[in-house]
Amino acid sequence: MTIRPICISGNPVLHTPAAEVTVFDDELRTLVADMFETMDEAPGVGLAAPQIGVAKRIFTYTWTEDDGTLKRGVVINPVLEIGAISAEEPDEESESEGCLSFPGYRFPLKRALTATVTGVDLEQNPLGIEAEGWFARIFQHEYDHLDGILYVDKLNDEFQPEVLEIKEDEGWGVDGLSWLPGRDDLDA
Ligand code: ZN
Repeated sequence: MTIRPICISGNPVLHTPAAEVTVFDDELRTLVADMFETMDEAPGVGLAAPQIGVAKRIFTYTWTEDDGTLKRGVVINPVLEIGAISAEEPDEESESEGCLSFPGYRFPLKRALTATVTGVDLEQNPLGIEAEGWFARIFQHEYDHLDGILYVDKLNDEFQPEVLEIKEDEGWGVDGLSWLPGRDDLDA
């Protein structure tokens, strides 16, 4: 397994819808194994294939619920259904999320409190996962990556000047930027 570089905002692969997976072979198994290793090393609670430069509809996740239950897996060709998203202002304390492709920053964003993901696993077995709370947020965040959307794209208007300023200060928003978990010291 290999830890792969994580693309940073500006890399076109992050801003373009990814393609359905049609071939389930050893290359795909290696890709998914690398995604788990890269996600764990980052560390992150989710990783979408475009984040390591692969424009395919795949994400991995790892999340421990409050009761200690570990939720961990891969979803290939996911379909997402979500509950209603509140029109209220997001809470800075409890609703701020981050992204390994916009590393080191957090912004609040309203998400649906429930989500259901269907798709297939590496063996093409159908799967369906119901999620609530932060676990549901992870699914929404990772699914957006597959449509070429970063969470910072969805923030309320009031945060957009700060996002722009960060991109300028960091020199992001251009092609070819990445960071390597375990080597580069970045908080995400
Ligand atoms: Zn992300």
